Amino acid sequence: MARHCGAMATRIQARLNTVCSSRWLQDWHLSLGLSGARLTHAGAAERLQREYDAVVIGAGHNGLVAAAYLQQAGVRTAVLEKRHVLGGAAVTEEIVPGFKFSRASYLLSLLRPQIYAELELQRHGLRVLPRDPYSFTPLLEDRSPPRSLLLGHNMAQNQQQIAQFSQKDAQAYPEYEAFMGGMVSALDPLLDSPPVDTAALGKGSLLQQLRNLRALWPLLQAAGHQQPALVQQCSSHTTSPPPGLALGQQLPRYYEVLTAPISKILDQWFESEPLKATLATDAVIGAMTSPHTPGSGYVLLHHVMGELEGRRGAWGYVAGGMGALSQAIAHAATAWGAHIFAEKAVCHVLLGRDGRAQGVALQDGTEVRSKLVLSNASPQITFLELVPQRQLPKDFVQRIRQVDTRSPVTKINVAVDRLPSFLAAPNARDGQPLPHHQCSIHLNCENTHLLHQAFTEATHGHPSNRPMIELCIPSALDPGLAPQGCHVVSLFTQYTPSVLADGQSWDEQARNAYADRVFDCIEDYAPGFKASVIGRDILTPPDLERIFGLPGGNIFHGGMSLDQLYFARPAPSYSGYRSPIPGLYLCGSGAHPGGGVMGAAGRNAAQVALKDFRSL
Ligand SMILES: Cc1cc2nc3c(=O)[nH]c(=O)nc-3n(C[C@H](O)[C@H](O)[C@H](O)COP(=O)(O)OP(=O)(O)OC[C@H]3O[C@@H](n4cnc5c(N)ncnc54)[C@H](O)[C@@H]3O)c2cc1C
Repeated sequence: MARHCGAMATRIQARLNTVCSSRWLQDWHLSLGLSGARLTHAGAAERLQREYDAVVIGAGHNGLVAAAYLQQAGVRTAVLEKRHVLGGAAVTEEIVPGFKFSRASYLLSLLRPQIYAELELQRHGLRVLPRDPYSFTPLLEDRSPPRSLLLGHNMAQNQQQIAQFSQKDAQAYPEYEAFMGGMVSALDPLLDSPPVDTAALGKGSLLQQLRNLRALWPLLQAAGHQQPALVQQCSSHTTSPPPGLALGQQLPRYYEVLTAPISKILDQWFESEPLKATLATDAVIGAMTSPHTPGSGYVLLHHVMGELEGRRGAWGYVAGGMGALSQAIAHAATAWGAHIFAEKAVCHVLLGRDGRAQGVALQDGTEVRSKLVLSNASPQITFLELVPQRQLPKDFVQRIRQVDTRSPVTKINVAVDRLPSFLAAPNARDGQPLPHHQCSIHLNCENTHLLHQAFTEATHGHPSNRPMIELCIPSALDPGLAPQGCHVVSLFTQYTPSVLADGQSWDEQARNAYADRVFDCIEDYAPGFKASVIGRDILTPPDLERIFGLPGGNIFHGGMSLDQLYFARPAPSYSGYRSPIPGLYLCGSGAHPGGGVMGAAGRNAAQVALKDFRSL
């Protein structure tokens, strides 16, 4: 098998000649016109009409979700995507021939369970591959073999693993999980409805006021939340389960988690550094923050608030890569009758004399009229590029300009001809995947200080010398992603500033130097990794902005700091998906509840737009 892949690797290597960089790969990719570059589902056969009830700008997963709900409700909807593939940051792309990469996002958990069910995504082809174990942190140590920390869904095994480092931490872990689980369950109802419109409270007729009060219900649910079954289940491992726990009673402790640096919270629970650093990665992932930054706790919650097949906090791979999820949503939408088009870049929103959105104009000059326009593009593209500034309140424009989009992420997609063999858990002779190969593998994660140091370098404009690396090998569970015996490796790395110090640019040299540094780090944990590399696709923050339209390369369309969430996302008074332009709605990650492959913004925005449509 290894020989099969080896021969393939030699052929590819001969073509690549040298390890290739992202821009070169992109040109090659486009010039080859690989499959997937054109739509293959029902809607593709339709011709773009000149009029719809609703137009969605962008076919990110949120735009597709919004379209599916609108069309399901009988609103004739078209989706217009500027790239050649659907899915936005949830795409599968064959960047190296024969290797299918989840080119940007790569793990699924956050997608709202209602969306699976209501859009019947399983029927439309979605297959999820859950991971257990899910987290592996190998250490660099002067002992043979070095230790590692493997975490999964079996609490007793987790405790054994943690006990290698601290008995005390092993005992505390179930209670910590229960505590975080309780908080996540409490916040859950807030995700599936628009934030409370405080301006509307107390306005209008008595009936209207009562209706407006209904919007407070999710908040009240969160505040009066009772301990869910799952938390009680986890708590049964502890010596003192807190029965009937309510967010109300726990509010001061939960408030602290939301506002404190995650390092402070983790120090309260644990003493062992590998455990704290592993947990802290969820608090900084995608964010230009350190574990010592106040408010990092919320980012951690955001990353554990999902569920997979009913299991809270579980993350899995989508069979066929993340693009297969977008395809399933697109199938659902087209099955209801929506029309979806790739390579249709919108250049501006059409406005009527009354200032209402009336449709969109495409870059090729085509105009498409509609009563509703939903934008899945970032708030910055939507309001600073697609709408004339004079049509928007000045303070709104200023707020959008001020959204913090700093991003630390460089994603590197790597094609390899064999599985990495870690010093802490060497491969078997047959080279077959071992349990840890399906995990998120955390490198340079020996302690939280390392993460902070990596962050500090980036704040001075330098890519980290020992970056935080989350290495995933989706082909360990989904072998169809790569030729036999070969694998796709996803490297989610930080910290890389989008603007480098001393006026340096992210040119080929800088980009390759950083990727080489990342590969050197991996080599320390898994000797032989560098020799296994067939090709690589390096996506620095400017690349993420250029290719995917993510402002500043920010993977969430804007930071997930407390000042940019809920009431304030994307701007205070405009968090309910409506915008200052009547008929124009935001339906992507720049709106509540933010980034990640959740679909919540798309679903909530469709509901708001639908309500308005019915009263037109
Ligand atoms: C490297 C990386 C790794 C990530 N990893 C994960 C992960 O593992 N799990 C997870 O849950 N989340 C992850 N995320 C975050 C997640 O992918 C995003 O938050 C989410 O996919 C955004 O979805 P969206 O639909 O809101 O917007 P997008 O996916 O950004 O979609 C917006 C769409 O609008 C299109 N568009 C923009 N302007 C125009 C225009 N003028 N005309 C037409 N179309 C236009 C864009 O091309 C794009 O397709 C990751 C993100 C990145 C970048």
